[in-house]
Amino acid sequence: MVKMIIVPLTSYGVLEYLDALRDLLVDSLKRTGVKVEAYVWSEVLKPPVKCFNWERKQYLARCVIDHVRSYLQLAGVNEDSIVIGIGYLDGYEEGLNFVFGEAVPGNSTALVFTRRLRQEYYGFQPDFNLYFNRLVKEVVHEVGHLLGLNHCSNQGCVMSFSNSVVEVDAKSRFFCKECARRIRELNI
Ligand SMILES: [Zn+2]
Ligand SMILES: [Zn+2]
Repeated sequence: MVKMIIVPLTSYGVLEYLDALRDLLVDSLKRTGVKVEAYVWSEVLKPPVKCFNWERKQYLARCVIDHVRSYLQLAGVNEDSIVIGIGYLDGYEEGLNFVFGEAVPGNSTALVFTRRLRQEYYGFQPDFNLYFNRLVKEVVHEVGHLLGLNHCSNQGCVMSFSNSVVEVDAKSRFFCKECARRIRELNI
């Protein structure tokens, strides 16, 4: 049984999507054959100022991941639960201009930053369905990393690497056969 906790890091751009997101995340994983439970954390866990880089106007992913995990640990969350934080924020990692998300399998925690998943970010009209679809794919992708998967060369597979929203749009929210088999091997 894979247990997951979905933690909102902002209210804006996140809260209204969380229940639907949880259902699709669970669906994508169930199709691989693993048993899964997912909960939405009831409070918004705003990332600390120390993780914000004022020059870049971005949050350092690794810093936020450590914060989220230690906060939940203090709140009594078991180490065997996977944690995924989601925020309408922009994030980066050392050596990269930005990241859509990041996973640290060592502490079973991942993040998805959603500002760059919005059409408005690129000067287009809002498209809430498109934003939601991108959000689901990125969350499933990061959870895939937490469950032991690396990137996949199958362009339609949710584990294919995306460096732009065009690439996010090109993939599905599903694991390819090979990735699904690997998830079962590693998590049953
Ligand atoms: Zn990845
Ligand atoms: Zn794959």
